[in-house]
Amino acid sequence: MPPKPGWYNLRMNAPLPYDPERLAQCAGEIIANVRELSERGWTPATSSNFSRRMDERNVAITVSGRDKGKLTEADIMVVDVDGQPVATDLKSSAETLLHTQLYKRFPEIGCVLHTHSHNQTVASRLFAGMGHVHLEGYELLKAFVGNTTHDTEIDVPVFANTQDMHTLAAQVDALLDKQCMWGYLIDGHGLYAWGRDMAEARRHLEAFEFLLGCELDLRRLRP
Ligand SMILES: [Zn+2]
Repeated sequence: MPPKPGWYNLRMNAPLPYDPERLAQCAGEIIANVRELSERGWTPATSSNFSRRMDERNVAITVSGRDKGKLTEADIMVVDVDGQPVATDLKSSAETLLHTQLYKRFPEIGCVLHTHSHNQTVASRLFAGMGHVHLEGYELLKAFVGNTTHDTEIDVPVFANTQDMHTLAAQVDALLDKQCMWGYLIDGHGLYAWGRDMAEARRHLEAFEFLLGCELDLRRLRP
């Protein structure tokens, strides 16, 4: 996107390829929502990362290694849909590609949330051997876009963990070619969930968290 008059970075003395007001708006949304997720214990030890689409090319995303319970505007940076930093020296998470691949593939996707809650991590370990977590018959399945009844089933994929994001992104892409999904687990790691805006991504994230917690309890309680 060509810079417009007024889109200027005073610190770097350069025109900006995005609207700084849109960045402030996205950063505000990320900060408010992530603080609440962090209070629930879903982002331990500076883990997890969060992003929000700004326009067709640019994405606001959390800076790597920051305490997600205490985010300020200085902890949000811009990357393009290829995952490259835009007009900043800051570094985004090593997992940035897992966010940007979704923005690149689906123009309608506006928000990607990645957390490391206890339930998500335990479930990812327990179901890694099967390659998915089967969810069936829950009223809360209606929280996912496209589901209108509890009388349905979904398989939440569990991918093997790796530090090679290109490999993982390719596996996610291959599965997206075959099925519609709103999230996946990574073994021993956590959950990715997304939606068309923050509210929808958060609803999906909360539904996954709740349903994974139910499956773990059923494993404990059933004889
Ligand atoms: Zn992670």
